[in-house]
Amino acid sequence: MANNSNEGRKFLDSVHQYFDHAASYSRLSSGIIAQIRAPNSVYKVSFPVEIDGTVEVFEGIRVQHSHHKLPSKGGIRFSMQVDEDEVKALASLMTFKCAVVDVPFGGAKGGVKINPRTSSVKTLEKVTRRYAAELIKKNLIGPGMDVPAPDYGTGSREMAWIADTYQALKYGETNALGCVTGKPVGQGGIRGRAEATGLGIYFGLREALSDGDLLKDKHMDGNTMEGKRIIVQGLGNVGYHAAYFCQQDGAVITGIAEREGGIFNPNGIDVKEAFKHRSENGSILNFKDCKNFDSSEEMLEMECDILLPAALENVIHKGNAANIKAKIVAEGANGPVTREAEEILLRNGIIILPDLYLNAGGVTVSYFEWLKNLSNVRFGRMGKRAEEASYRRLVNAIETSSGKSMSTQERAFLTQGSDEISLVRSGLEDTMINAYHEIRDVMLEKNIPDLRTAAFLTAIEKIGVSYESLGIFP
Ligand code: GLU
Repeated sequence: MANNSNEGRKFLDSVHQYFDHAASYSRLSSGIIAQIRAPNSVYKVSFPVEIDGTVEVFEGIRVQHSHHKLPSKGGIRFSMQVDEDEVKALASLMTFKCAVVDVPFGGAKGGVKINPRTSSVKTLEKVTRRYAAELIKKNLIGPGMDVPAPDYGTGSREMAWIADTYQALKYGETNALGCVTGKPVGQGGIRGRAEATGLGIYFGLREALSDGDLLKDKHMDGNTMEGKRIIVQGLGNVGYHAAYFCQQDGAVITGIAEREGGIFNPNGIDVKEAFKHRSENGSILNFKDCKNFDSSEEMLEMECDILLPAALENVIHKGNAANIKAKIVAEGANGPVTREAEEILLRNGIIILPDLYLNAGGVTVSYFEWLKNLSNVRFGRMGKRAEEASYRRLVNAIETSSGKSMSTQERAFLTQGSDEISLVRSGLEDTMINAYHEIRDVMLEKNIPDLRTAAFLTAIEKIGVSYESLGIFP
């Protein structure tokens, strides 16, 4: 595994600089700060996999950035760009992300150098299982140890393979399904995990839009999602769901940028249809009523209210930051804005909703999934039918006792169900709202000019309290 590609190094440098800047506001001792900053452990592995009769060697890595809370938590990335610095940066972001949303995990991340788009399903399965086995045999993953999840290039299919490999090698272990999250619903997953990161981004954006103080002088028309023009980069799991939920609430998706280029329509693009178009044609280009763009880069610089980079790190850098015209940059991806670019954006009055807050919905719902696996329950036991019957009885009783029929609004309030998906979504919504205000309070209290520094500081202080109260072993 290459130590540091240029991109990986840049990413890690940015995260360190963000951290150091925020830490300068902290009251914690320099020793504790150094401990919070350092990755606790890095495990690199090379393993052989037989593909069509020949042996290929793959490189994998798992970084556990912090152990102040166990298990540590973070996704597994499949990409040719994976390197040690990139994974260290991503693992450390997980530490701060979990702290921002009060999810009691340390931070971790893993990766395998493989191109999932050009590899067969069989190869992906062999590589996933062997990589998982390498971690399991060193006791590096487990429900109380370190719990992977999907990330760029992986999804519920890979998580099911990991869970199955774990159960095969640790046959009979209690709570074994809690060794990984983001599993298919039928394999111990939770309803709402797939869309969780995107939905969390929507909740975070909605909260920021309603914050009049944050947006003053930004000439935003109204403080809701209605009519906001959004350009999204990346129509993967994160970008798709974020754009979809924003569109449902009245936003106009004017541009979608992907690897092969982008599409633009000032009147709005139906996200669901565009996604279907891309799946069927293998390209986002040539979608109805849209203008094609050759490069995704070009689209980042177009006029819009909200720019939503939801693909990879370092896409807004010192070379293009001055050309960004959005009023808000909403970080769906991890690390899309380099430190140098951030300075330029902030100078130009652009608001950045930082990754460690905005995309924390994924790990939040992973936490719900893990809790479910540990307690062996199904949330919202009732189920849809029973729920509806009880809702009808409730409406009946209220109407009989009050002598008048309920308004649509009153009925809508009552239908906020207690089935699993409703519980997940309302838990996620509360989490995103609370975390937003916590960060805003720190920003105001400490007179910090930007949300990222305030989010990092909020996290650093919480982790610092953990380390201080745990004491130092031995
Ligand atoms: N890979 C996701 C992230 O970057 C989710 C991690 C998790 O659920 O553990 O936040």
